Amino acid sequence: MSEEIRIVYIEGDGVGPEITPVMMAVLNAAVQKAYGNGVELVFEEALAGLKAEKLTGESLPEATLERIREVGLAIKGPLMTPVGKGKRSLNVALRQNLDLYVCQRPVRHFKGVPSPVLEPDKVDMVVFRENTEDIYAGIEWPCGSPEVEKVIRFLCDEMGVDRIRFPQTSAIGVKPVSSEGSKRLIRAAIDYAISEGRKVVTLVHKGNIMKFTEGGFRSWGYELARQEYGAYDKEGRTFIPAAGGDILLDDCICDAFLQNILLRPQDYSVVATLNLNGDYISDALAAQVGGIGIAPGANINYESGAAIFEATHGVAPDIAGRDIANPLSLVLSGEMLLRYKGLDKAADLVVTAVERTLEDGILTADLYKLAKGQRHVRLVGTKAFGQALLDRL
Ligand code: NAD
Repeated sequence: MSEEIRIVYIEGDGVGPEITPVMMAVLNAAVQKAYGNGVELVFEEALAGLKAEKLTGESLPEATLERIREVGLAIKGPLMTPVGKGKRSLNVALRQNLDLYVCQRPVRHFKGVPSPVLEPDKVDMVVFRENTEDIYAGIEWPCGSPEVEKVIRFLCDEMGVDRIRFPQTSAIGVKPVSSEGSKRLIRAAIDYAISEGRKVVTLVHKGNIMKFTEGGFRSWGYELARQEYGAYDKEGRTFIPAAGGDILLDDCICDAFLQNILLRPQDYSVVATLNLNGDYISDALAAQVGGIGIAPGANINYESGAAIFEATHGVAPDIAGRDIANPLSLVLSGEMLLRYKGLDKAADLVVTAVERTLEDGILTADLYKLAKGQRHVRLVGTKAFGQALLDRL
């Protein structure tokens, strides 16, 4: 009897319907090749985004959340979020609703992928971005609203705040950062470093300015490492004991970190950071290794086991429907999913197929235009790229 692995999928808006079939075909082929009839992936569609709105009148139907909660494993294409309107991001809603507190983004370079930096192969990091708190919690009031007036009055009259520069014309946003939320994220990063044999965990924060929120994140990280992992100090640095060699735990202020990843990316391996910093960092790192068209991601609750794997880019409205999108972000998110379910053999096959395709110079338009001047490269569309991956599997 074969083992069935049920996966809920959300096709996504924009380029979603073009890249999702490529991801499913590659994952199915890899699993078939690795395990024959021993393992079967069962993809089950759930609605979200524009397709859901058209069919059900709601962009995130309760049935979708319910099904992902039941199955505990999903993969999604990008979903559109209107800017500055009343609606909240569907992605944020999904993450918060299922309490997927880790956004995990591995960033590495594939040979053959053009990059704007000289030594992209020095980038090999896994970013753990906190996914449920920070300014993303969505606690905000618009300028001129009765709510914002009330909050400003409370801050000024009762809390002694005298530094709101323009109180009459301010909008206000609140940034909650808790020890509980920070510690569960940092715990996941340290556990990952231990299990994957990585040698450095860096806490990235802006604690010099936001002392209690971002500074708290930093202090709670060191506290956790000491209390739960027996971390110790040696020559002014902190180490976490680990079987294959102790792990260095250090920290870096976010703006300096954004410089350092360009100047000496080899110094970093596992990165634990707050929600907003993590957003900036993962896009900046993705650009160093070929852009967001190829960067994968996962949203995970390590306690319940629930996980949604996703393309990290948006719906790419400028290229949707033209068979030119790069399907790799979603395919590599699928590779993470396979590994998360312990299907390492199939995941390794996907990685090898991606490596071979790119080394053969087969590129979609986003990478092809960066590779200008290189002789061996060949421009292909989304479907043909998917076929090239299948051929190499
Ligand atoms: P975007 O990622 O959609 O596009 C930015 C640029 O990257 C565009 O030039 C686009 O053509 C290119 N690009 C993106 N994906 C690509 C791919 N697979 N292959 C080749 N090129 C690709 O970002 P945006 O324009 O800021 O956002 C558009 C919409 O997507 C917004 O509604 C936004 O809210 C939404 N969005 C969704 C997610 C998500 O679902 N996880 C993430 C980011 C943005």
